Amino acid sequence: MKDYIDKKNMMNYNSKNSILINLILRIKFSKLEIRDLTIATILVIAVGLSFNGYRHISWQFLAIFVSAFLVHEFAHKLLAQFYGSWAEFRASAYGLLVTAISAIPFIPFKFIAPGAVVIDLSDRSKFGRVAFIGPLTNLVMGFIFLILFYQHPFVGFLRIGASFNSWIALFNLMPFGNLDGEKIFSWNKIVWLFMMGSSMGLFVLSQTYF
Ligand SMILES: [Zn+2]
Repeated sequence: MKDYIDKKNMMNYNSKNSILINLILRIKFSKLEIRDLTIATILVIAVGLSFNGYRHISWQFLAIFVSAFLVHEFAHKLLAQFYGSWAEFRASAYGLLVTAISAIPFIPFKFIAPGAVVIDLSDRSKFGRVAFIGPLTNLVMGFIFLILFYQHPFVGFLRIGASFNSWIALFNLMPFGNLDGEKIFSWNKIVWLFMMGSSMGLFVLSQTYF
């Protein structure tokens, strides 16, 4: 009997894993989507570098800015496709413009919203979960960077990794303007509050030196 349960659990585990692997392998990008993602990623890198007035450019910084943006968007796309929805990233003209303005070094408030993954889901809770998973990726990456920073306090880019991810999460969690925050807020206010609190905590911790 035990043998049977173990085998069954194993099969469940394997099939869950293969669903994820299949989803990742089947993920497709249209030419239009790749064009929009490329323009958006370049602008996000520019905003990231503008925090330091373009004075410090390193592969670690570039990896932080690119992953904070792309992992967030891919998570939306992957979960929406898992729910059977069409899902593609599209840049918005207004979003590209405010992000480009934010890339100017002396502009103090940095908007990072070059576009969004457009989905086709009518189920309210699935729609909410797809919005929720984007900022969640930034919180997870940000806290990992923070823990690594506490262990290696002289490696400056680790703190930037925590701080940049907290900023992307915080910005996207604002409950208006068609941002993820608005969709999460109308789906589940407790989840929204928890996400907002965690992002603020991460932001404050990433600004604090011990
Ligand atoms: Zn998002």
